[in-house]
Amino acid sequence: AAERLSGKIVLITGASSGIGEATAIDYLEATNGDIKLILTARRFEVLKTLKGKIAKDYPKASVHIETLDVTRTETIEPFIANLPEEFKSIDILINNAGKALGSDAVGSIDTEDIRGMMDTNVIGLIAMTQAVLPIMKAKNSGDIVNLGSIAGLDAYPTGSIYCASKFAVRGFTHSLRKELINTKIRVFLIAPGLVETEFSVVRYKGDKNAADSVYNNLEPLSAEDISDLIVYSTSRRQNTVVADTLIFPTCQA
Ligand code: NDP
Repeated sequence: AAERLSGKIVLITGASSGIGEATAIDYLEATNGDIKLILTARRFEVLKTLKGKIAKDYPKASVHIETLDVTRTETIEPFIANLPEEFKSIDILINNAGKALGSDAVGSIDTEDIRGMMDTNVIGLIAMTQAVLPIMKAKNSGDIVNLGSIAGLDAYPTGSIYCASKFAVRGFTHSLRKELINTKIRVFLIAPGLVETEFSVVRYKGDKNAADSVYNNLEPLSAEDISDLIVYSTSRRQNTVVADTLIFPTCQA
C-alpha cells in the first residue's frame, strides 16, 4: 500500500515536534524517501535541524521548510501561492498544529488562552483547509487529515475550551467530508487519547512537573503510534476513507 504514497506532496502544520514531526519521518520511512514534504511551524530553527536530519537519513527526499503560524490567517494564502513550483500541487494536508493552554475552571480561563486555542485548533485549521482545497479541487484528488482528540467526543472538566475546539474540529471535518463525497478528495479525522509529546509542557506553560503528572499511572501513546495511523489511513485505496478513528493507549479509560 505504501507505493500509493510515492512521489506525493505532503504539507504538515506543526511539524516541529510531536505528532507532526513523527508523521514527516513516517512518510519518509514508508516511501523510502520518495516523497516531497512541506514542513511548517512557528519555530524555524527546529525545522532546520529536522531538515538536516532528514537530508542525512533520506538523501532522496525533497523537503521544504517554512515558518507558518496558522493563527496569522492572512499569511496562509500567500504562503501557499509562493511555494516553490515542485511543492505547489499539494496531495496530502495534515492539519496537525494544535494545543491546549491551561487547565482552569471556566470562570478563570484567561481570554488570551481561549483565543490561542480557538485560533490555532479551529480557525487556523479551517483557514489552511480553505487555502489548500482549490488545489485539490482543480485536480480532483487529495487527502485532508485533521487532528481531533478524544476531547472532541468526550468532554472533561477544566478542559472546556480545548474540548470545544476539538468538538468544532469534529463537526467541521465530518461536514467537509460529506460536502466532498462526489469528488476524489478524502477527509480524515484522527482522534487520539493521551500521547506523550510537547503537548503537556505547552499546556502547563513549561511546568515540567505538572506536565509529567498527566501520565501518572498511565502509559501514553508515542507520537509514532499516531503517525503510523496517519500513514496507514492515507495509503488505503482511493475508494476507502478511514473517516473517524479513536486511538487510545490500551490502559486509558
Ligand atoms: P506538540 O506540542 O508536540 O506539537 C504541536 C505542534 O504545533 C508543534 O510543532 C508547534 O510548533 C505547532 N504549533 C503550535 N501553535 C502553532 C501555530 N499557531 N501555528 C503553527 N504551528 C503551531 O503536540 P502534539 O504533537 O501532541 O499535538 C499535535 C496535535 O495532536 C494537536 O492538534 C493536538 O491537539 C492533537 N492531540 C494531541 C494529544 C496528546 O495527548 N498529545 C491527544 C489528542 C490530540 P511551534 O511551536 O514551532 O509552532
